[in-house]
Amino acid sequence: MSDTLEFEITRNERPVTAGERAAILADPGWGRHFTDHMVTIRYSAERGWHDAKLEPYGPIPMDPAAQVFHYAQELFEGLKAYRQPDGSIVTFRPYMNAARMNRSAKRMAMPEIPEQLFVDAIELLVRTDKDWVPDTEGHSLYLRPFMFATTRALGVNSPASEFLFMVIASPSGLYYPRGIKPVSVWLSQDYSRAAPGGTGEAKFGGNYAASFAGQAEAVQQGCDQVVWLDAVEHRWVEEVGSMNLMFVYGSGSKARLLTPALTGTLLAGVTRDSMLKLAPDLGLPTEEGKISVDEWQAGCESGEITEVFGCGTAAIISPVGWVKGRDRAWTIGDGEPGEISMRLRQELIGIQYGTRPDPYGWVHKLS
Ligand SMILES: *Cc1c(COP(=O)(O)O)cnc(C)c1O
Repeated sequence: MSDTLEFEITRNERPVTAGERAAILADPGWGRHFTDHMVTIRYSAERGWHDAKLEPYGPIPMDPAAQVFHYAQELFEGLKAYRQPDGSIVTFRPYMNAARMNRSAKRMAMPEIPEQLFVDAIELLVRTDKDWVPDTEGHSLYLRPFMFATTRALGVNSPASEFLFMVIASPSGLYYPRGIKPVSVWLSQDYSRAAPGGTGEAKFGGNYAASFAGQAEAVQQGCDQVVWLDAVEHRWVEEVGSMNLMFVYGSGSKARLLTPALTGTLLAGVTRDSMLKLAPDLGLPTEEGKISVDEWQAGCESGEITEVFGCGTAAIISPVGWVKGRDRAWTIGDGEPGEISMRLRQELIGIQYGTRPDPYGWVHKLS
């Protein structure tokens, strides 16, 4: 398989006008607006990856019997392009997203895509729609690569042989436009996000579909987000919403960070990995381990656990302030974002936006 392809380029004849774009970028919200172009690349068992195109953003013709509609064979990725102080544009660890998409693909019996082709597709879209990369502080261009089965067949005994890979882009504003406020979380006892041997480790759309009822229950209970526990004992803490969880023990020079280990039911976040690498360099030892709901509650009540936050590409970090379950509730810290959470956030944002040096080589300049 060749590592990349030539893209056929069709420019959008009716791009959004500069004025309309400026109005959108002034208040982009999240995932509501899309840029002028998109990338499509086809796969077939006979031809491998082929037919790479950059074309105007728009609807795609689909056969009603396409397997994705019936058996949900789909997966996605999420990363951002950031404007640097000198006006140039970077993405953050894109090869990690490419590698993760391929791990997801393996689990979902889908074809792997050459990492270079994945990154080239993203770069081509960002370069073409570069005027959509915001220069407002904290804003970025969210990139959404995804892949799904287009095979026209309802039979499930032979694996799908045709797929479409796409990339679309959406300008995104601050996740917390009114400043960072800790969220309240609901401990989901009745629903599970992922089970051993299941698909929790894959960035698979179906994991989200399966999580919406639990999220709705959280909201019904007056909480912002749902905390997922392990599916076997409903005891071990796994993730919050669609973010990985981090627990800060102690404070000041004695603080340390614990995050649930990747047991196969958790998604391996790029932000999680970046936090685990950044923290020790800020004097914060890290551990990947296990934490139960009881330990979480006891740790907060004794003061041993001082801060808790979710982390992911969209929000970077989202402090957790309150926890509620069927027969328990407790608070974390004083209801304000913790000092260590905010410091980790500042460091990571500084690297992404180019206001701090990047000793890790995470920032990827557009070629
Ligand atoms: C995408 C995702 C994350 C966060 O991953 P990042 O690479 O840090 O954005 C965490 N949990 C779930 C379930 C996810 O889908």
